[in-house]
Amino acid sequence: MLRQTTFNKSAAAWQDLLPEGGKEVAFIGRSNCGKSSTLNILCGQRKLARTSRTPGRTTLLNFFQVEPNRWLVDLPGYGFARASAKLQETWSDLVSRYLSTRNSLNGIILIMDIRHPLMPLDQDVLEWLIPLNIPLHILLNKADKIGYGAQQKTFLQVKKALEKMNGSIGLQTFSAHTGLNLDILQNVIETWLDLHKTPDPSTCHPR
Ligand code: GDP
Repeated sequence: MLRQTTFNKSAAAWQDLLPEGGKEVAFIGRSNCGKSSTLNILCGQRKLARTSRTPGRTTLLNFFQVEPNRWLVDLPGYGFARASAKLQETWSDLVSRYLSTRNSLNGIILIMDIRHPLMPLDQDVLEWLIPLNIPLHILLNKADKIGYGAQQKTFLQVKKALEKMNGSIGLQTFSAHTGLNLDILQNVIETWLDLHKTPDPSTCHPR
């Protein structure tokens, strides 16, 4: 279903956003966490979201259409040290307004590098997001970079820390390179976007 996703538009200012009324899932994370790679593998398209070599180059909210009125929204990466203060400010105004007021927003995927989870900025973002009560699901990405034991250890540590934050938050290990646990992420998004599953032909019987 997500394979039909196409880029629709970028919004650099509030008036550029699509009209309310659909269902959206937003993707956020530090620059370089693998947000573009995640969108690409999720939609089965190598170049859907640009995987940029300059972290934080994407300064816009990018809307990708999954099907009519169903959207994935790529938010600018945070924590890009080289961006000017003015630019950081513009991003955060637009992004925080979007996250805190958007009625169409049905869920947020927050991506972290499994080797450096819950960095101070991630914690700030989480503490700000949790009271908004928007369904939240965290990916511990780049799991292919560490062994299975280390993945599980980090998973449990992050799970514990999240419990302390009092949020009901989904958590999984993930790799945008190998597709590890891609099915879990797909299920979360299909549920949030209320995508209609195509019936399996083997279970369809003529009446
Ligand atoms: P963005 O800035 O968050 O959009 O991150 P990108 O998707 O551009 O990825 C940043 C870098 O991390 C690129 O070099 C990617 O190839 C790499 N990367 C992203 N996801 C993974 C992953 O799951 N495993 C590995 N090993 N590298 C990844």
